[in-house]
Amino acid sequence: MVSVAEAFQIVQACSLNLQLEEVTVLQAIGRVLAEPIVADRDFPPFSRVAMDGIAIDMDQFKGVGQEFKIEAIQAAGSHQLGLLNPMNCIEVMTGAMLPQGTNVVIRYEDLDVKNGTAKILLDKIERGMNVHPRAQDAKKDEVLLTIGQKISAAEVALLASVGKSNVKVFSFPRTAVISSGDELVDITVTPEPHQIRRSNTYALQAAMKELHWESESFHLVDRKEEIMPSLRKILNEHDVLILSGGVSKGKFDFIPEVLEELGVQKRFHQVNQRPGKPFWFGTTQDNKKIVFALPGNPVSTFLCFYKYIKPWIMTCCRVDSKPHSAILAMDVNFSPSLTYFLQVRTESQNGKLMAYSHVGGGSGDFANLKSVDGFLELPSEKSTFKAGESYPFISFRV
Ligand code: AMP
Ligand code: MG
Repeated sequence: MVSVAEAFQIVQACSLNLQLEEVTVLQAIGRVLAEPIVADRDFPPFSRVAMDGIAIDMDQFKGVGQEFKIEAIQAAGSHQLGLLNPMNCIEVMTGAMLPQGTNVVIRYEDLDVKNGTAKILLDKIERGMNVHPRAQDAKKDEVLLTIGQKISAAEVALLASVGKSNVKVFSFPRTAVISSGDELVDITVTPEPHQIRRSNTYALQAAMKELHWESESFHLVDRKEEIMPSLRKILNEHDVLILSGGVSKGKFDFIPEVLEELGVQKRFHQVNQRPGKPFWFGTTQDNKKIVFALPGNPVSTFLCFYKYIKPWIMTCCRVDSKPHSAILAMDVNFSPSLTYFLQVRTESQNGKLMAYSHVGGGSGDFANLKSVDGFLELPSEKSTFKAGESYPFISFRV
């Protein structure tokens, strides 16, 4: 048996080299950037007028009430004009190039414009006022986004502004999600009294879809002679296998032994945690195929995905994930010397994320998951956890 920290480290150390794929900028949303993005020009590319008004030469300004004759209009999207007479002004529109010979913009709100003349109503103006100077935001060739950046709408705006209509993102490994157990039927079937619907593969595939990680699903029965050829084929055709069920001590829990017979080496079996203790993890000798065999109890499967598999795929995508924490809102006792992943409902109070214990019926009770937001990781060394203490928080809400 390994500790949670050891299990986490072992899984993290087995990261896969992911392929890259090119997608359109809008398809890139939610994906992870696999190439650095550099500024193709200065940002902004010219000193940009930031308010509608007039542009003047600052040095000609003497004080409030001074009038400037309007010489021309500089619209957004037209070539740069120049001030012919430094005592005059040019009307300028937001987004236009600042005309040559000018260095400050005065807003219409601070002007009285009449008969081709603008009277300035301010007694003080500052150089560069209402001008967004060239290269203030970024210089040409500066790195704007690095590999491993998750792409949200903000990154799409940047990609679009540097003309990246297509962008390289990390491609996910070929992945199989596999349920196992003779009691399980597909969700379209009406179960007999001794049967249940196999919800785990749906939960796993849904959790993966939130990351845009596509997968194929399979089902295995509890007969070793049938598991063997099916798993062999699945293993041949996929790089990552995520199984649920069949890894405990039951008479029909054949998954670990079949995997080892197929050449998948055990990296650990059993983690000092609740739920999810029977978790089995292995890789092929060349480390090119990764197998997560999770315990079948729905809450265990769920926890293991968010605690181990999601951080693992993020590391493969070179995402620099930050750990989260939450503050226990009530005292909790848990005496077994196991890391306890407490189901919690969270609430933000005075800027702090408070976690309320909401355990439900244990690892088989997945109906409880709808009432909680994640798991608070309570360390194995302690058995009393006090209100006000802060612990790592694993959220499964997006
Ligand atoms: P196992 O890990 O195979 O011993 O299964 C533990 C418990 O989880 C049993 O009650 C199973 O019926 C249940 N279980 C296993 N796989 C699934 C699944 N795909 N969907 C829902 N429940 C499952
Ligand atoms: Mg089973």
